[in-house]
Amino acid sequence: MNKMQSKILNMDFQKAAKRFVLLSLIIVVLGGILTGFMFRTQIGEVIAYHQTYENSRENGMQKDIEENARYDGENREDRGREHDYEESNFLESGLFTKPTVGAHIVFFTYAALCALIALVYWLLVMAWLYQAASKAAMNRTLWTILGLFFNLAAVIAFLIVRSLQTICPSCCAYQKAGAFCRACGVPLQIKCAGCGVLVEGKDNYCSHCGNRIPHDNTDKTK
Ligand SMILES: [Zn+2]
Ligand SMILES: [Zn+2]
Repeated sequence: MNKMQSKILNMDFQKAAKRFVLLSLIIVVLGGILTGFMFRTQIGEVIAYHQTYENSRENGMQKDIEENARYDGENREDRGREHDYEESNFLESGLFTKPTVGAHIVFFTYAALCALIALVYWLLVMAWLYQAASKAAMNRTLWTILGLFFNLAAVIAFLIVRSLQTICPSCCAYQKAGAFCRACGVPLQIKCAGCGVLVEGKDNYCSHCGNRIPHDNTDKTK
């Protein structure tokens, strides 16, 4: 479990996302073409059937209108239902060539691969939330669970919540505005030497007088 934890924390999501998008595109496009090729006979038949069906329905509707003029309301309803029944069952009507075993295998493999892509996407979003919440010193368990149920909506909520918080200039932990960082103890607010106003620790210049704010921690390392 710890191994997986550090793996997720050190994951390069930009690289992972690029690879994932490329690989999924290849699978979806090639799989779609192959499936379409395997079912080419049936697709052609469905299109041909639909065209004749549309034509006959147009003719039929014309006839219906003429005939309905002679029937009462009750009969008209029954006849309408008959038409719906015809349409919903036209695939099982035996009018089409049965797909080959190979076509079935291709179709189910393609469907399984698409499901796998969706699953990997879902897990990637959860892993990103786990990593981002960890880096921001936010509740990573909560955000990962929210990601499991709400996925992209959880990512948007996470970004909004994070943007409302103060970031520590030293360790990058996100938190409520306060005097010191709760993760590393660095002051989050610094008194401007020029005017005495309290400014945020991450600011480079005072928003009140324009004085440069010295950063002891970061300046020493430079
Ligand atoms: Zn800190
Ligand atoms: Zn100032």
